Amino acid sequence: MSTNSLPLFQKFKLPNGVEYEQPLGLFINGEFVAGKEGKTFEVLNPATGQNSGFVHEATAVDVDIAVDAAEKAFYEGPWSRITPADRGKLLLKLADLFEENLTVLASIEAFDNGKAIQLAKGDIGACVGCLRYYGGWADKIHGKVIDTASDSFTYTKQEAIGVCGQIIPWNFPLLMWAWKIGPAIACGNTVVLKTAEQTPLGGLYAASLCKEAGFPPGVINIISGFGRTAGSAIASHMKIHKVAFTGSTPVGRQIMKAAADSNLKKVTLELGGKSPNIVCEDADIEKAVEWINFGIYYNGGQCCCAGSRIYVQDTIYDKVVAAFKKRAEENVVGNPFDEKTFQGAQVSQAQYDRIMKYIDIGKQEGAVVETGGVRHGDEGWFIKPTIFSHVTEDMRIMQEEIFGPVCSIAKFHDIEDVVAKGNGTQYGLASAVHTKSISTAMEISSKLRAGTVWVNCYNSLHWALPFGGYGESGIGRELGKEALRNYTQVKTVNINLA
Ligand code: ADP
Repeated sequence: MSTNSLPLFQKFKLPNGVEYEQPLGLFINGEFVAGKEGKTFEVLNPATGQNSGFVHEATAVDVDIAVDAAEKAFYEGPWSRITPADRGKLLLKLADLFEENLTVLASIEAFDNGKAIQLAKGDIGACVGCLRYYGGWADKIHGKVIDTASDSFTYTKQEAIGVCGQIIPWNFPLLMWAWKIGPAIACGNTVVLKTAEQTPLGGLYAASLCKEAGFPPGVINIISGFGRTAGSAIASHMKIHKVAFTGSTPVGRQIMKAAADSNLKKVTLELGGKSPNIVCEDADIEKAVEWINFGIYYNGGQCCCAGSRIYVQDTIYDKVVAAFKKRAEENVVGNPFDEKTFQGAQVSQAQYDRIMKYIDIGKQEGAVVETGGVRHGDEGWFIKPTIFSHVTEDMRIMQEEIFGPVCSIAKFHDIEDVVAKGNGTQYGLASAVHTKSISTAMEISSKLRAGTVWVNCYNSLHWALPFGGYGESGIGRELGKEALRNYTQVKTVNINLA
């Protein structure tokens, strides 16, 4: 489609009747604009596979324009003089606008990503919490006075870095938007954020809320585009001094290489996972089954922290497999806009194909499908909740991230055995243990090599709690006070008083 025929805004009516004005342009320097090369791309509805519309596409030239706007805002505009308290106020205002627009934002998310509306509402609630939390931090970021000698006075400052590039994935389009924007802006940076090509709609609507909140032009720039063009232009840009990426481990490696080959920009990466979810023989089995079900099928398994390797103590294995199979089959899969739906569509044909390919690989490797393993319905990209049993540690389905509603369940004998198995991949994002024994919980928690350990729960994320990976699951931590480190650099000022 040529740009000439694609407007910058379009009225959308979503399947649940929500009507709103969807921005389609790139949000650069406070305005929605067409891409310089005149390109656009198609957005598809995962629940039907049909066209949802088109958006304008950013290429490297638009990244340059957005970076220039962000750099100007950082060094020259009102943002360069804003007080920390006023930065906080703007973030609080943005949080309020997210809250006021919860229904429309959640509806866009369900439409664009295919996720269940009840989960999408939870995502937007978490965006509100995250933006508010970092609004609160804005005027509490400070350095130290460090005494080294009686005739010198030395202090440190936590300074903003400058223009930050942010590249986000499609599984939580708006939540990842908020996780990135919140701390970067609280610390006083300006940003150029690229949404994932599968899910550009929510980020653009959120951009219009940034404008409404009153952020000066150039402070927050939101662009739609592809990884190999706009994404790699961000990763290798000479005027971007920090890049934050959430996505797959292979792309994380490319981002790091691009940062190294360009200006050694600071890098934080939140990557893949193959998280173990451990059920000990003394666990409350009914509750543990709820959590293992939630741990893998939440968001259709499209979570970097999905509990995709389930280890059950051999004495209760058969009982847990039977209960889990029954529970998985009860999950309501289907129309994302049905309030009863728990599991919506997978995001794209490519993702659907990838998951089905892994289901085939599992079968070829000799694993047994306890339930699922097939498509759900006859349109869109739905897959039934799938459980593999009779797995061995070396199988690809036990080592590689599938990113879908597919898990493996295996036996363990004792703590030593399950710790070895739990730590048996190159990943280390999350993990969980279900037990009534505090000493078992603490022993396993301290021995698992993962950025998060949940005890008697799963997916219990909160904006105040640091989140990130060990090993090939990433570098740095998002959320909590920890995330402020990603977006500041320390300046030491040493004054000679002699
Ligand atoms: P997936 O494979 O699930 O789509 P990716 O890791 O490829 O996940 O994508 C996550 C984000 O990274 C998206 O915004 C995508 O456009 C972007 N991306 C993909 N490849 C690159 C790249 N080479 N450089 C920068 N960004 C990229």
